[in-house]
Amino acid sequence: MSDYKEYSICKDAQLTLKKAHEDGVETAWDRLKKQEPQCGYCELGVSCRICVMGPCRIDPFGEGPQRGVCGADADIIVARNLARMIASGAASHSDHGRDLVEVLYKVGLGKAPGYTIKDPEKLKRIATEYGVPTADLSNEEIAKRLAEAIMEDYGMKKERITFISRAPRQRIELWEKLRVIPRGIDRETSEIMHRTHMGVDNDYVSLLLAAVRNSLSDGYGGSMVGTELSDIIFGTPKPGMSEVNLGVLKEDQVNIMVHGHSPVVSEMVGLAVNDKEMVALAKSKGAAGINLAGLCCTGNELMMRWKIPMAGNHLMTELTIVTGAVESIIVDYQCIMPSLGQVAQCYHTKLYSTSDKAKFPFMEHVEFTPENAKAQAYRIVKESIENFTRRNKLKVYIPVAPVKTMSGFSVEAIVGALGGSLTPLIDAIKAGKIKGAAGVVGCNNPKIKQDYGHVELIKRLIANDILVLTTGCANVAAGKAGLQVPEAKEMAGPGLKEICGLLGIPPSLHVGSCVDNSRIVVIACALANAIGVDIAQLPLAAAAPEWYSEKAATIAFYAVASGIFTVLGVMPPILGSKKVAELATSGLNNVLGACFAVEPDPIKAADLMKNHIVDKRKKLGLPI
Ligand code: SF4
Ligand code: SF4
Repeated sequence: MSDYKEYSICKDAQLTLKKAHEDGVETAWDRLKKQEPQCGYCELGVSCRICVMGPCRIDPFGEGPQRGVCGADADIIVARNLARMIASGAASHSDHGRDLVEVLYKVGLGKAPGYTIKDPEKLKRIATEYGVPTADLSNEEIAKRLAEAIMEDYGMKKERITFISRAPRQRIELWEKLRVIPRGIDRETSEIMHRTHMGVDNDYVSLLLAAVRNSLSDGYGGSMVGTELSDIIFGTPKPGMSEVNLGVLKEDQVNIMVHGHSPVVSEMVGLAVNDKEMVALAKSKGAAGINLAGLCCTGNELMMRWKIPMAGNHLMTELTIVTGAVESIIVDYQCIMPSLGQVAQCYHTKLYSTSDKAKFPFMEHVEFTPENAKAQAYRIVKESIENFTRRNKLKVYIPVAPVKTMSGFSVEAIVGALGGSLTPLIDAIKAGKIKGAAGVVGCNNPKIKQDYGHVELIKRLIANDILVLTTGCANVAAGKAGLQVPEAKEMAGPGLKEICGLLGIPPSLHVGSCVDNSRIVVIACALANAIGVDIAQLPLAAAAPEWYSEKAATIAFYAVASGIFTVLGVMPPILGSKKVAELATSGLNNVLGACFAVEPDPIKAADLMKNHIVDKRKKLGLPI
């Protein structure tokens, strides 16, 4: 019988996957098998269904059709498909950011009970960046005015989005020359959908430059807004300890999970589970208490701020239900498999959708708005407690003990850990104790053994004295592997080990959720500004070893657009056009000073990143 080691490196996944199969539950891994072999045209990016003269496809062997019905060739089709992928990712993050703007605005109007301004100092700092006056104004008035100013970033009132000015001068000048400065967050996404309509932009270079601009409207727009406003409303994260893996579920407690991306819903759930009356209700039903845990990026948001434990990343979401120990999962949006409701049919778990834009089969829809969120959270928590009485104890299987992990490395926290400025980090990089820094981000994808890509890559990077910053599902992989506790310094090279020991930090830092890749961008900009160089000159690299999502593609695009060499562990659908593939993997170097590489082997990927960092160090005249 399979020991499931070919699916995941994680014991909790292996054991629960076995139970899933014993219980007759189908998972993403099973469905991938049923889909194979997957469509070769789509894998190459040469199928098009943009209009109903199609669908069309280009024969990659040159024998069949080389143009769609409209006349589009492989280069146009691949570039259009890629641009639409970027637009979807940008739209997702930016719409998430917009929800935070709405909450901030309603807090300003006094119409969002339960929500407050948890970081007034940051509110004032960001307001000042937006040119919003703060003197003699209440926090609520500043919140309202700041929200209104950010709304303008979403539209077409400005020539450029506000946070783009955080980039170093050299980068901004390059973007100006290329005409890729985002003019409005929504505008760039909307324009991509227009450009890729049949008969609009049919030049692959022009399409890809527009996609670059769209990705920047996410990285320096929607995502950055999402991060900064979450900090203002829910508090700027500080380092602290928590726990990770399926072992965070408690056999004797009501287990409530939050899943998705937006902290808007989960923060209110957090409020409700800590209410004494709710805890007393849980006890009256025979539970020892209420245990709130996270999944995916909603989990990251809660772990960053409140050290709420994390049950798992993307491929653990179905398996969490299979434990039979979960009373409810409350979802917001993004990365929520539509299969969850089906899986829950075999157990007692209740599922709740909360966003008008994200409804699912077999889920009860309890819509959250800034006005009613608190009341709705209490309602769901109450129902979850009631559901504890329906738990079948014989079906409960919590396969492992939890692992300790550290979280909460916001930009402010990193600067704080360094004693108030980035200078000690810059000095450590200059001295060669830290060779450089790398962002390791993104998802799980059943095409890659779960967490193998993340963990092996991070181990190799830190062993080479490269400081790692993780976001999204990469956090969970690193946390479960014990890489995100201060003791993990023992796995780092001598220089990084020394610095981590001095600061009491892990060599791999949990910096947040997927929108929080903007934190990595902010640090890169601040480092470049402090040294007086462009980001592309810094010893930095990034990787998304197990990515699946359109959002990850957009993140990778804005990383490269910022000048950061980025390695993808899964091939994007571009190989059907030699020109697009060449531009992405080398040509962009001449345009943006950075490009992509695709390398599924995490050890080889780490070596590519290390070599890139060494090369940048040489060019800066730093010791190797
Ligand atoms: S846009 Fe052109 S290539 Fe695409 S489906 Fe329509 S006709 Fe075919
Ligand atoms: S890292 Fe990927 S799978 Fe995980 S929450 Fe983010 S987009 Fe979803």
